[in-house]
Amino acid sequence: MSPLKAGSTVGILGGGQLGRMLASAAAQLGFDVSIYCPEDDCPAARVSAGHVYGNYDDADGLLAWAKTCDVVTYEFENVPVSAAQALIDAGITVRPGAKPLEVSQDRLVEKAFLRNCGIATADFAEVNAPEDIEKPIVAFGGRGILKTRRDGYDGKGQVRLEAGDDFEAACKALAHAPAILEAFVPFKLEVSVVIARDAVGDMLCYDLPRNEHVNGILRRSVVPSDLAEDVVDRAFEAAAKLAHALDYIGVLALEFFVMEDGSLMANEFAPRVHNSGHWTPEACATGQFEQHIRAVVGWPLGPVKRYHDVEMLNLLGEEALVPPEVLSADGVLTLYGKREAKAGRKMGHLVRRRV
Ligand code: AMP
Repeated sequence: MSPLKAGSTVGILGGGQLGRMLASAAAQLGFDVSIYCPEDDCPAARVSAGHVYGNYDDADGLLAWAKTCDVVTYEFENVPVSAAQALIDAGITVRPGAKPLEVSQDRLVEKAFLRNCGIATADFAEVNAPEDIEKPIVAFGGRGILKTRRDGYDGKGQVRLEAGDDFEAACKALAHAPAILEAFVPFKLEVSVVIARDAVGDMLCYDLPRNEHVNGILRRSVVPSDLAEDVVDRAFEAAAKLAHALDYIGVLALEFFVMEDGSLMANEFAPRVHNSGHWTPEACATGQFEQHIRAVVGWPLGPVKRYHDVEMLNLLGEEALVPPEVLSADGVLTLYGKREAKAGRKMGHLVRRRV
């Protein structure tokens, strides 16, 4: 596909806040955005030039929509692989393609893929029944985390386990879904690499954020991370290997645990713009949303230079209902336009300059 001109249409599969921020960035570059998602009244459709509400398994509806777009991308990793593949088979340009979905949707496949790229991960074992936990949990030093292979996010679908626990109950808590047991990682801190790769394979990484989670949900990202330069370089190298192996076009985020001795273990990656990169539009020459759009339309990447130290704070549930003048006094406010402030739901974020 040759680079698209302003005025072309970018299709986005998915209608959440990431789609909304991608759509706004695309509009700023002169593109029209069309959203395809199953939920009506979604945050992304309400800022886009067009939208179609439909299910991902409606092959005809999906293709009819995609034909109105000049390129299609996605804003969440659980778009069915078959839906993306059907569009590709019909000649639609889908960036970053079906492979990143296939790999990232299944924690077992994902961990194996990362290891094949030469990227260290926690030890892991496949679990299809409670008996499958007994041996590996001992091999992992007696502590592990049982996670569903699919559909877990923000710490959902996970149970912490110790040798001797009731494994039957643990599998039941995950509705006996196919699972993976991971060794418990006694990490010092968590970081992520937000990397962009363009259509000719050039790559740029944003400064690395240090991420703080509460109950499995990202609470705060802080930049700089204060990690030693060689640790940061190793994290960048790993992300570049992954992006290259996936022949990736767009922005992706690779999350790491950092150990006391500076060694790194990859946890998972997201084939999309990422919550831990939400500070980039305010603090960098090119934000992650603009960067993703640039890559998928075939433009060269923009510079990722960071102008100041920064932190990003997620606004969860009712935290976003504080009057905007109070929230805005404390940083640059982004609200996602969600109609209901359910507990723990990501409703917006604040970006604060750190001095
Ligand atoms: P995940 O859904 O895999 O991103 O996990 C959510 C959070 O749980 C991570 O950000 C970590 O804080 C924690 N976590 C996940 N896997 C492990 C592990 N193997 N060892 C220790 N903590 C973990």
